[in-house]
Amino acid sequence: MNNNSRPSRFNTVIDNDSVERVKQFVLASRHVVVTCHVSPDGDALGSSTALCSVLRAMGKDAVVVTADCAPKALQFLPGVRDIVTLTRQPERVRELIAGADLVFCLDFNDLGRVDRLASLIELSGARRVVIDHHLSPVIEADVIISRPEVSSTSALLYIFLWQAYWVRYLNRAAAACIYTGMMTDTGNFSYNSNDPDLYLIIYDLMRKGIDKDNLYKLVMDTSSESSVRIMGYAQYRMQVIRDHRVAILSLNSDELKEFEYSKGDTEGLVNRPLAIPDVTWSVFMREDAPDLVKISMRSKGDFSVSRVCEECFGGGGHANAAGGEFKGSLSDALSKLLEILPNYDKYLS
Ligand code: 5GP
Ligand code: MN
Repeated sequence: MNNNSRPSRFNTVIDNDSVERVKQFVLASRHVVVTCHVSPDGDALGSSTALCSVLRAMGKDAVVVTADCAPKALQFLPGVRDIVTLTRQPERVRELIAGADLVFCLDFNDLGRVDRLASLIELSGARRVVIDHHLSPVIEADVIISRPEVSSTSALLYIFLWQAYWVRYLNRAAAACIYTGMMTDTGNFSYNSNDPDLYLIIYDLMRKGIDKDNLYKLVMDTSSESSVRIMGYAQYRMQVIRDHRVAILSLNSDELKEFEYSKGDTEGLVNRPLAIPDVTWSVFMREDAPDLVKISMRSKGDFSVSRVCEECFGGGGHANAAGGEFKGSLSDALSKLLEILPNYDKYLS
């Protein structure tokens, strides 16, 4: 492929100095660890497995390390089964990070997002490179490639590979991983997806031989029976508060048990209420443990749910897709939400 066939902006997304420094770091390294955020999603896993594959094609001893396991729905992705997770193989993870010359941090902007991997990475003497698209990184690294305007870390990774002249190391399997990340972080190109350059990337990935229709089927259109049931139940019980233009979905620990919930079963649930024209933002609260509620939020337009998550639920994310946690019961989390709703009316346009 010839870089000259691309619009010039495609070659200048990342400054040349950063690209060159990362190239030098890779060429000077032998053992490379690639990691992404806890509860990894399609973008985190897609970008990490793709980069690992490229590094291996370059002859590096590369491995993906994560804090916890990939969701079942993404286990089919090439390379996901080779991931070493802290929950399953703590000793191996310690060895890998301690022995690494270089650590790539993908799809997160704060070391807190890798859970208990954070202290291991902090202790390691390895060089560190961040490639991410979340706002305002608060992470220390030798090179930080942070582009919040790019819709997925996977697309940003592709652009990096392009600028580094490393697309030649990307095989079909790794191209499928990049496509998966681009697809999942844009709801199959239904939001954050008006950048024409995205479709140039897809063109290239398809030229690598990916079956994009099958990836859609596998990732976005395949559900377990428990997932179909629990999503239907949660939506049936949804609360819509029109005065605040908000929809609230919740599942308590008894309900999760009754529906035989397993990780990933509620993926995409929080997006559903946004189909209602009067709903500007949507909140989903799931009681993962007796004193821990996982919170996901989505919004339309200018209303920033990352602001709500940061200010009220110790979290963050993107303007239209964010998350956080509440330490306490589901009913206390719901009470807190109802209490803070009026504070955000002023941001509803
Ligand atoms: P989801 O709702 O799919 O879990 O997450 C949506 C977005 O919010 C993702 O970009 C994710 O990185 C971010 N996010 C989710 N949970 C948390 C959290 O607890 N803390 C922070 N800082 N970001 C989160
Ligand atoms: Mn992402």
